[in-house]
Amino acid sequence: MSRPPTREYLYKILVVGDLGTGKTSIIRRYVHNIFSTNYKSTIGVDFALKVIQWSPEIIVRLQLWDIAGQERFGNMTRVYYKEALGAFVVYDVTRPQTFEGVTKWKQDLDSKVALPEPWGGGRIPVVLLANKSDLLQEGHGQPINQLEMDDFCRQNGFASWFDTSAKDNSNIDEAARYLIQTIVSLE
Ligand code: GDP
Ligand code: MG
Repeated sequence: MSRPPTREYLYKILVVGDLGTGKTSIIRRYVHNIFSTNYKSTIGVDFALKVIQWSPEIIVRLQLWDIAGQERFGNMTRVYYKEALGAFVVYDVTRPQTFEGVTKWKQDLDSKVALPEPWGGGRIPVVLLANKSDLLQEGHGQPINQLEMDDFCRQNGFASWFDTSAKDNSNIDEAARYLIQTIVSLE
C-alpha cells in the first residue's frame, strides 16, 4: 500500500499587542521552551520558526513574526503584515490599558491584511491571548469573565481566546493548535 504524499505548509503568523504584554516571551516559550524575566526589547522585526508534524500527511512550518519594539505606534506597515495567514493579539491581564489596545490592533489587522486569493481574500483568523494568567492566580488583576470574553470575541471577530502564561507554559500550545487548525481547515 502506498502512503499519501506528505504536504508541507508554510504559515506566517503575526504576534501583535502592546509593549510588555509578553509577545516575545510567548514566542520563545513556544519555539524554544524557555522563559526569562530579563526585559530586553529588540528593535525591528524578528521571526522564529517552528516545524510541526501536524498529521501523518501534513507538516506545518510556522513562522512567528514578533513586532519587537514597534508597539508604541499602535500599528504596523502593510509590508510587515503581507501574506500573513493568522495572528495572535496579546494583552496583559494585570494591565487593563493593554486590553484597550486589543481592539486597536484588531482593527489594524482587519484594515491591512486579507487572506491571499486562494483562500478567498477574507479576514485572517485572529486569536486573542490573555497573557500572564499566572499573576491572576497570585491575586494580581481582575479575574477574567469567561462569558464577557466570549462575547467580546464574537463582537470583534476573534476566532477564539485563551488565557496563557509564558512563565508557566500554560495554554500556549493549545492556542497555537487552535489557530493552526483554523488555517489548515481553509486549505
Ligand atoms: P513584549 O514587549 O510584548 O515582547 O513582552 P516581553 O515578552 O518582553 O515581556 C515583558 C515582561 O513580562 C518580561 O519581563 C517578561 O518576563 C514578563 N512576562 C511575559 N510573559 C509573562 C507571563 O506569562 N507571566 C509573567 N509573570 N510574566 C511574563
Ligand atoms: Mg518583544
